[in-house]
Amino acid sequence: MSRPLGSRWYGLVDIGGTKTIVAVAEESAIRARERFATEVILGPDDLTARIAAAWERLALGLGLSGLSGLAGLGVSVPGPVDVDRGVVRLAVNTRWKDYRLVDRLRQLVPGVPVVVDDDSNCAGLGEAFFGAGWGTPTQCYVTVSTGIGGALILDGRLYRGFQFAAGEIGHMPVMADGPLCQCGNRGCLEAISSGTAIAQRARERLTASNLLGVPPEAITAEEVFAAASRGHTVCQEIVADAAKYLGIGLASLVQLLNPPLIVLGGGVMNHYQELIAAIRKHMDDHLFAMHRGPLRIVHGVLGEDGGLLGALHLLTTSA
Ligand SMILES: [Zn+2]
Repeated sequence: MSRPLGSRWYGLVDIGGTKTIVAVAEESAIRARERFATEVILGPDDLTARIAAAWERLALGLGLSGLSGLAGLGVSVPGPVDVDRGVVRLAVNTRWKDYRLVDRLRQLVPGVPVVVDDDSNCAGLGEAFFGAGWGTPTQCYVTVSTGIGGALILDGRLYRGFQFAAGEIGHMPVMADGPLCQCGNRGCLEAISSGTAIAQRARERLTASNLLGVPPEAITAEEVFAAASRGHTVCQEIVADAAKYLGIGLASLVQLLNPPLIVLGGGVMNHYQELIAAIRKHMDDHLFAMHRGPLRIVHGVLGEDGGLLGALHLLTTSA
């Protein structure tokens, strides 16, 4: 394999609630990857050691001199991060709290720069600089998955807020006295339109009739979408509500920031084609007429690579 002289190599990882993807990139191209289940039982020190071992394996496999061949490490984590101190403040799925991730990685891989940010910000940066949002300096990214998150990219820079908590689009209130959210508040967008919420609504409404052919506790958002496409009225209503409130949430975002572009990603958005007309209609209903036409909404194109490439972007643009 011939490589350009002086090419730089980076270690990347997207730590998810259920799976972790470790990769090595040459400049902006991912050259090798490995994935494993995020075993919560391991604890953060063991998980980070496992990630470092995977980087070393991948780097050696690419003909590099192990970890010392990497010019930087970029990490995406599933929860809010104090980016300045490199501390993961809370990652509910992995049960991390105030974990000094950057210090730990510096022990494991000395002398190599490390950047870390939360998964929504990384996925949004990935789409903005390598994916569906390429070439548009201001844009909002919204991921609709088990939860709902977002990233605000304003004039080419990620806006994090003073506590690194900006872009929590899933916790924007969209329905007064609405369903209870995991965050403890009521009526958050995430409590209505996330995959978790879609499945929960179906469980609440279908318990007596068991209409989806599985026990109510086993219903997933995917089954609700499938039943809706077969003409199941209750499931169609649940999906329609999810789209409606997504539209309302996006309208708030647009009235606040007036972005020219919104990129939608995440697992629920695998149903982008089924949802976008309703999302757009309900959004437009709440917008000034001048916003409606020019504003573009697009589906993300990077899938699981988004978080890795966003971490890479942070790494290559950090001073
Ligand atoms: Zn909430």
